[in-house]
Amino acid sequence: MADGAQGLTVLEKSILISKGMSEQEVGRLMEMGVRGKEDLKVIGDAGTLAELVGLRPEVAGRVMSWALGGAAPGPSPDKIVVQSGDVVLCVHCGTKQPKDYKSGDLCGACGKQAEPIMACYWCGATGPGKFCRQCGATFVPTAELELGILLKREGVPKDEIPEKLRRMDQAEKDVLWGRARRY
Ligand SMILES: [Zn+2]
Ligand SMILES: [Zn+2]
Repeated sequence: MADGAQGLTVLEKSILISKGMSEQEVGRLMEMGVRGKEDLKVIGDAGTLAELVGLRPEVAGRVMSWALGGAAPGPSPDKIVVQSGDVVLCVHCGTKQPKDYKSGDLCGACGKQAEPIMACYWCGATGPGKFCRQCGATFVPTAELELGILLKREGVPKDEIPEKLRRMDQAEKDVLWGRARRY
């Protein structure tokens, strides 16, 4: 039986508790011989940790992402696939579009236009992608098109409309919808 000196440090315990583990669960982990982050790496994944200690999956996930983060012997950097915000999934079949995908391309898997056709709140043109090809405005979500048009009518500059809509919470949008309906 490992004595206290070989157990997790106070800092490690605090971190585990901050991830959502209870004192008892941390104790169970120590009883199993986990003496630090390195031992958590041996456990290897959240599913195994959850089974071992009886953790809720989301807690196990947070613990393991901490344990495996940083110095984890992961894949070499050139193999890490960066899921940037620019990944385009086909709206019809969900297939991820290739790296050289350009707005307006047809989906290689289903042959339909991969992106939805958006309407521009500023000039009324339509097209796929993130930007209006006519006037350069950044499209707003289709559901908020009317709000974009309203903000334009109220004199908000083109470049500020998408940002403004993104920052608004639902209550502010509701107020805006109220105004939109009065026009
Ligand atoms: Zn498709
Ligand atoms: Zn436009």
